[in-house]
Amino acid sequence: MTDQSNLDLKYFIDDTVYNCPFCNRRNVKYAYLPKSDFNWASDKDCTIWRIKCTSCGKISMHLTHVELQDESYGNAHFRTDVDIDSLIFYSVPSSFFVVDIRIPKIIRELITEAAGCIKMNYMTGASACTRKAIYELLTREGAEGSSYDERIKNLENTHPEVDPELFEVLAHIKDMTSDKVHEQSWDKWNSDCLTLILETLKTVLHEIYVVPDEKAARKKNIKDLRARMSGTVFKGDEPKQAIPTETSD
Ligand SMILES: [Zn+2]
Repeated sequence: MTDQSNLDLKYFIDDTVYNCPFCNRRNVKYAYLPKSDFNWASDKDCTIWRIKCTSCGKISMHLTHVELQDESYGNAHFRTDVDIDSLIFYSVPSSFFVVDIRIPKIIRELITEAAGCIKMNYMTGASACTRKAIYELLTREGAEGSSYDERIKNLENTHPEVDPELFEVLAHIKDMTSDKVHEQSWDKWNSDCLTLILETLKTVLHEIYVVPDEKAARKKNIKDLRARMSGTVFKGDEPKQAIPTETSD
């Protein structure tokens, strides 16, 4: 069976099911509400799509500059020949599935905003959000140092579980712009550069905030299963003593 986990990271899986941002159910059917168009600019149109979850009944809103209507339907219905997510530049609410909910909210929002800016080709906004997200991470993790480089190095040292190469990319972002990197900088990165930085940052965040939680959950699951098997709830975390044969004391 092919790996389908990438579908969990999407908003719209196809023209009938999505990962609901309200009830957090995955792969749930949605209904279309009437859509409407407006003029974004004199030479640019925008369509507002409204989508209702058939499970919780809540309605989300999605904006696009692209014609997503499947003409074989009389009412609103997405085309089936496109990746819907990649053509929507703004959604309310933003999806928790795109950036894991275990990542701190402020960083998650900045990354979602940066991704939205990239889709709209607002590179200055995308750069500013990405930069701010990195600074939020450094602050939250208490990364010390008198310069940006030192703080990244400090973060690397406190997280030996994360591939050093990822920090190397983050450390070199100052070489990707003419000015010194600082939070208020208005320098913009180009699209390739920004995509590299954003993807690197997302991987680092995943390693720091998601992986340890998943490991702990899996460990707890095994522990619970073993406890159920023997009818004993184990105390402590010593696997060698985890399956007592007779009485141990
Ligand atoms: Zn729902």
